[in-house]
Amino acid sequence: MTLKSLLTLSLLSVCFSLLYGQTIKPAVKGIESIRLEDLKKQLYEMADPHFNGRSAGTLDEIKASVWFAEKMREAGLTPAGEDGTYFQFFSLWRNQTSKQSSITIGNHVLQLWKDVLVAQTAPAEVNAPLIYLGEANKIDFAKVDVSGKVVAIQVVPDGINTNISLPEWRYSRSIHVKYGTDLLAKGAVAIIYINDQYAEHSWPYAKENFIRGTYDIEGGANAIVTSKPPILWVRKEAAEWIKTEGQVAKISIKIESYTYPSVNIIGKAESKDPVLSKEYVLLSGHPDAHGIRNIIGNDSIYHGADDNASVNVAMLAVARALKKSPGKRSALLVIHGAEERGLLGSRWFTAHPTVPISSIAAVLNGDMIGRNNPDSAALLGSVPPHKNSSHLVAFALDANKEGPQFKLDTLWDKPTHKEGWYFRSDHLPYARLGIPSLMYTTLLHSDYHTPQDNAANIDYEKLLKMTQWIYRTARKVVDAEKRPTTDSNFKLER
Ligand SMILES: [Zn+2]
Repeated sequence: MTLKSLLTLSLLSVCFSLLYGQTIKPAVKGIESIRLEDLKKQLYEMADPHFNGRSAGTLDEIKASVWFAEKMREAGLTPAGEDGTYFQFFSLWRNQTSKQSSITIGNHVLQLWKDVLVAQTAPAEVNAPLIYLGEANKIDFAKVDVSGKVVAIQVVPDGINTNISLPEWRYSRSIHVKYGTDLLAKGAVAIIYINDQYAEHSWPYAKENFIRGTYDIEGGANAIVTSKPPILWVRKEAAEWIKTEGQVAKISIKIESYTYPSVNIIGKAESKDPVLSKEYVLLSGHPDAHGIRNIIGNDSIYHGADDNASVNVAMLAVARALKKSPGKRSALLVIHGAEERGLLGSRWFTAHPTVPISSIAAVLNGDMIGRNNPDSAALLGSVPPHKNSSHLVAFALDANKEGPQFKLDTLWDKPTHKEGWYFRSDHLPYARLGIPSLMYTTLLHSDYHTPQDNAANIDYEKLLKMTQWIYRTARKVVDAEKRPTTDSNFKLER
């Protein structure tokens, strides 16, 4: 092509873009292989009801992981798990409150999970006087003497978010954070919360959550639970008799502990560079969702379409495109098991990496990238104190400018944001190790962790644009002369 024709063509395309209100997106090698149809087809497959919501530690998670590994194989990725496979198995350490537990207040014998919920999964033997403190918002915490006592309080919604469109057990957690911490610090040996109308409403969700218990990986703080003051919830009607003075509470909480398997799924797209092929852009997602739970809107399977099938199929498309059009560096796709149980797969992988940790040049993680306003998104890890690599952030922001041009929300990346979103996905363990790390997300919505997070509710145009944005960023990482550096002053607020 001559220079003149090139200029004419450029001028024409500028006119075209001005006429049609579009901007020219610089071409980037390999991006054309990312197709909306593939994303949509695979997302429908992964969020299909036959995977039963892919709950961590169940055969459903394993089944979905095997399905995903097969997609990695079809994409031409090399197995990069353990023993020449796509898999890295690890044990979930789980604790649950046992049915052998017993709770008696005065002469009332409470039936576990019917009359009383046990919110703290930890063993305890308490035999102590009960004190009723009245409505929570009227207690003078400076004056009350609760040392050595079992404390009962009437829950009130004062100052608590009662927006129950989000997972409804959060209400009980908010109450405990607001009142319980002080009472325990002052020496209370157990707390009994008496339901208000909101706690009554959230009872089935809170119950399910508390029955589930706690999970961790070997060596984690919750792997082996030690004795803690019981945190109990009782029905609204209990207010009538719990106020009676001079009662004694006898609380015996027993815990059942066991392990079972979860799995990381790992594949790589190797470049041909003799030196830099040993460095990786790590693409991250999680296969697990929330299984089968309470019925909401005629469905009880929590399909996890946005959270997080959207990211899994996107990262697979990015890895496939990098396999077809390699750069200097390689790509490592790590789909982390049991994310929803406390980032367990990513914590396990960073402690037992299948490639040297020092070979990970950058981590591009995603969590929920297919919902909300078509023109907006968020990049977590782009604002201090979460920003750990100005270099990588510049890659991602440039990639956004050159590609989808999302309006980027930065509020959710602030340490003051009440959701603490930065701390809730798989980039975190990598960032803590000082590896340049980012999280792509289109943020929460009212279907989050409900059965309505299904494939039909995904915005596939937006998912395609998010995938292209991640690809453009990954492309910069694999093509760069120098890998992204970590900012020297990086320090997370917690
Ligand atoms: Zn998620």
